[in-house]
Amino acid sequence: MRTAVAPSPQPAATPQIKGWCPGALRPMLSGDGLVVRVRPHAGRLTSAQAAGIAALASEYGNGMLDLTGRANLQLRGLHPEAHAAVLQGLQALGLVDGSADFEARRNILVTPFWQPDDGTQHIAAALAESLSAPDAPALPGKFGFAVDCGPQAVLRGSPADIRIERSPGDSNDYIVRANGYATGAVVSADEAVPAAMVLAHWFLAQGGGLTRMAALAPQLALPERFQTSTDFVPSAPKPQPGPVAAGWLVGAEFGQLQADTLAALSRLGPLRMTPWQMLLVEGLQHAPAPPELVTQAHDARLRVVACTGAPGCLQAAAATRPLARALAPHVAAGQLLHVSGCSKGCAHPRAALTLVATPVGFNLIRHGTAASTPDLLALAPETIASYLPPIFHAPRI
Ligand code: SF4
Repeated sequence: MRTAVAPSPQPAATPQIKGWCPGALRPMLSGDGLVVRVRPHAGRLTSAQAAGIAALASEYGNGMLDLTGRANLQLRGLHPEAHAAVLQGLQALGLVDGSADFEARRNILVTPFWQPDDGTQHIAAALAESLSAPDAPALPGKFGFAVDCGPQAVLRGSPADIRIERSPGDSNDYIVRANGYATGAVVSADEAVPAAMVLAHWFLAQGGGLTRMAALAPQLALPERFQTSTDFVPSAPKPQPGPVAAGWLVGAEFGQLQADTLAALSRLGPLRMTPWQMLLVEGLQHAPAPPELVTQAHDARLRVVACTGAPGCLQAAAATRPLARALAPHVAAGQLLHVSGCSKGCAHPRAALTLVATPVGFNLIRHGTAASTPDLLALAPETIASYLPPIFHAPRI
C-alpha cells in the first residue's frame, strides 16, 4: 500500500547526527534548555540519590526527566546559569566524575537483575575504575560496555561494544567478547576487566576513525584469545513491567518521568537503571500508583515508542508524546507504533508503523525506518487513529 494523500509532500527536516552524548559535566543544549545526563554508578541509585536528582530537576529544570537507552537519567530544561548549582548538587550526591573525558568514557550498561553474589557489581565497579585511569583507552563517545552477568543475557538488544557475560560452562567464569563477533574469551572474575581493556585497546589500534566495534566484524579477525569460545548463555526476551525477583519493574510513559514521580519512587526503595525506559525498584512488592507509570505488561502504552519531539528537541517538527498517548489504545497487541519528531528516528530503528512529524502533518511509513519513503503524507494528527486498524491489518508488501 503506497497512497499519497497530500498534494505537496513535505520531507521531514534533515536531522543532525551528533557523535557524542551529553553528560553532567558536558551538558547538551536542546529545545527546552540544557540536558544534563546523570550516569549512575554500576547502574544503581540509592534512595537519597534519586530523591536528590528529583529535587534538582524540580528546582533548576523543567521538572521532567528522561530515561535513556543507555540506562541513564537526564534532567531537562535547565537554564545555562543553573548548571553550576546542579553540578554542585550532583557532586554532593556522589554522581559527578573526575573529568568530562572520564564521564564520556564511562558508558557501562549493567543488568538490573544482578544478584549480590554474581560478580556483576564488582566487575562494573572495576570497569569504571579502569576507564578512569590515566592510561585508559581514548574511546569514541558512543563506545560502550555491557556487564550482563546473570544466568540469562538481557542486554544483547541494547547498545554495547564490549560485553562481559557469565560463562554457561562454569558459574564462576565469565566471557568477554566484542559486539558483532561470534566468539569470546573465557576469564575469571578478576580477569574480566583487564580482558575488556585489551579488547578496547585492540579496537583503537585498528584506526580508520571507526566508532563502533561491530563495524570491524566483517573485516578483521579478533586477537586469538577472543576466538576460543562460542558457548554463550541464552538471551532472555525483553523484560516487561511487573514483579521480578529483585523488586518491581516500573515503566516511564514514553521514557519520561516527572520529578515528583521520581521522588515518590525514591521513597519506595533504591532504583536500578535499565535501557528499556523502566526502573527496577528494589524490594517493591506492589505496583506504584502514579498514572504516568507503566506497571503491567498489558498496558497499551508499551505498544508505542516516541522520541523527545517538540519542544524538547530542536530538530523536531512537532510534539510526539501527546499523539503517542492518544494513539496507544488504537494499536493492537503485538504491533508497534513509532512516533518520531523527525526523520532521524532516535527512538526506534524500524517499527511496524512509523509516524514522522513534518511542518504540515505526519508522514506515515509501514515497515520502514523514519527515513524511509512515506506511504501516506502530511496526515493531520486528529485523523491518524482512523488509519491505524486497516493499516496494521493490511498485508505487508
Ligand atoms: S528523532 Fe526525535 S529526538 Fe531524535 S532528533 Fe528527531 S525529533 Fe529529535
